[in-house]
Amino acid sequence: MKRIAILGSTGSIGQNALEVIKNFPDKFRVVALGAHSNIELLYQQIKTFNPEKVCVTDKQKALSLKRRLNAQTKILGGLEGIEELCKEKNIDTVVLAICGSMALMPLIKAIENKKEVCLANKEALVMAGPLIRQKARDNKTRIIPIDSEQSAIWQCLVGQDSNKVKNIYLTASGGPFLGWNKKQLKGIVIRQALKHPRWKMGKKITVDSATMMNKGFEILETMYLFNIVADKIKIVIHPESIIHSMVEFVDGIIMAQLSVTDMRIPIQYALSFPERLNTAFSFLDFSKLKFLSFTKPDFKRFPCLDLAYRAAYTGGTAPCVLNAANEVSVVEFLKKRLKFISIPKVIEGVMDRHNAVKNPNLEDILDAHLWARIQTQRIIEKLN
Ligand code: NDP
Ligand code: MG
Repeated sequence: MKRIAILGSTGSIGQNALEVIKNFPDKFRVVALGAHSNIELLYQQIKTFNPEKVCVTDKQKALSLKRRLNAQTKILGGLEGIEELCKEKNIDTVVLAICGSMALMPLIKAIENKKEVCLANKEALVMAGPLIRQKARDNKTRIIPIDSEQSAIWQCLVGQDSNKVKNIYLTASGGPFLGWNKKQLKGIVIRQALKHPRWKMGKKITVDSATMMNKGFEILETMYLFNIVADKIKIVIHPESIIHSMVEFVDGIIMAQLSVTDMRIPIQYALSFPERLNTAFSFLDFSKLKFLSFTKPDFKRFPCLDLAYRAAYTGGTAPCVLNAANEVSVVEFLKKRLKFISIPKVIEGVMDRHNAVKNPNLEDILDAHLWARIQTQRIIEKLN
């Protein structure tokens, strides 16, 4: 029986993880849940899964939830509540499904407490990849990817010598604006950016998929999770989203991982690894697949890809700055204070102003994060 904590249980990944867990009552037990604000849904999850502890990072909401529940479930509040949760002896695995940079400290705490981490969040890794790798090594903990491309690469690499990798092909659906021209891109409104053609996800990652920054982040995620240099990571547009990524070896052999487009599949494998469990979800039907297509990404129309490579080559605090500038820009876009097409321009402006710190420690990373957030706000204010 694996005893699981889900941080970010009310989000898209969190809910999918709970659906997987529900199918295997003899394999997985939910011992803790964490959410930020959606206490209505959290209340339902508590009733269904009966966890021992729950943390609500919004402290007011934590109090409201406490009033509604009996004493059986212990309710914690704030980031310090998450810290306390991570110390729990009866947690084996933490599913990290908090969105954005807020996941950094919970990830570090989970690793420091020697928990196995099933990692959906990518922003924390982008911010502090080398530091997190080092911490995971020091604490002898395993980070298992949930992100579908990373899960694919990981599965293709099982039992392989990573020195024999020639290239990694990161597949990308291309998002809702694949093939759009410059004029069309100029007129994009929020509703269009929030409509992903293949995946149903939280708002932030959906916008990131539309700008293709999500794929940019995955370049960095791949570098850090598998210790692969950016030169060997290639992006392939594959609109059908059936091949979730591929690994090419030095002998010309390519391994690919395929499945239906459903996040519950990589989530289940992350939880059950190394075992494979029967899925309650759908199987791929080749007779219904007419064809699989592949094209090159358009770096001119989607400059976020170049910005991510630039951050990858610069290293140090550059990826952290990339993430912070993007995070602020997406929020401003969703508040109608920044045009979709201006998102990469703003991020580039912030990166231009940054002197990256090499081999950053946690303090350097948090400083760069804050600095970049302030710079981004300034640039956006000037634009308005
Ligand atoms: P959602 O926006 O759907 O969910 C985010 C979760 O994080 C919610 O439970 C939310 O709580 C919680 N949260 C928000 N702010 C805070 C905070 N300040 N402190 C603690 N918790 C907080 O996101 P997704 O599920 O789509 O994505 C989660 C992560 O997984 C992201 O990093 C994303 O890039 C990654 N990912 C997602 C995929 C997907 O299919 N959705 C695919 C691959 C990766 P509440 O709702 O209660 O406020
Ligand atoms: Mg992905």
